[in-house]
Amino acid sequence: MISAQEALKLLKEGNKRHASGLGGRRSRTTNRHRRELILGQQPFAVVVGCADSRVAPELVFDQGSGDLFVIRVAGNIITPTQAGSIEFATMVLNTKLVVVLGHSQCGAVRAAVDQLNAESTSLPPNLQSIVDHMCANLSNQGITSVKDAEVANIRSGMEAIAEFAPEDVEILGAKYDIGTGRVEYLES
Ligand SMILES: [Zn+2]
Repeated sequence: MISAQEALKLLKEGNKRHASGLGGRRSRTTNRHRRELILGQQPFAVVVGCADSRVAPELVFDQGSGDLFVIRVAGNIITPTQAGSIEFATMVLNTKLVVVLGHSQCGAVRAAVDQLNAESTSLPPNLQSIVDHMCANLSNQGITSVKDAEVANIRSGMEAIAEFAPEDVEILGAKYDIGTGRVEYLES
């Protein structure tokens, strides 16, 4: 089992490779590695990320098959289905680190801020439910800017996870910058 501290070190090293354009070696799955994966999985970190095509956690952290337990949904929100997946990783697979990964230029956050500022247009009903979920968490925080909302949305995800995650699991918030390729961790 990999501790939360070791897991964070691996994520930081991987993101350094990604941001400097040196990533990609680990993601090439060899036949031998694939055979090892038949025996089971032991992902060292859970990443709850946005569905945005520019923010694939395996690429952002330069990791390969079996390394990360990734849960992706627009706006990286925590609803019962995401929570259940996190429970599986932390309670069944025994993964000790959970990272909520938001990002710059997030369309879901932008839609939520527009709705808070009463500038929204009508959305399809299921997409609307995502934006409503985000707004419910952001509305009582007096947030009007996208930048503040990006961070606040990550923090509400962390708080939601803390409600049910085992006590020995570390929960971190982080934000990916699409322009630089760097991940910055929020202060806890
Ligand atoms: Zn996004």
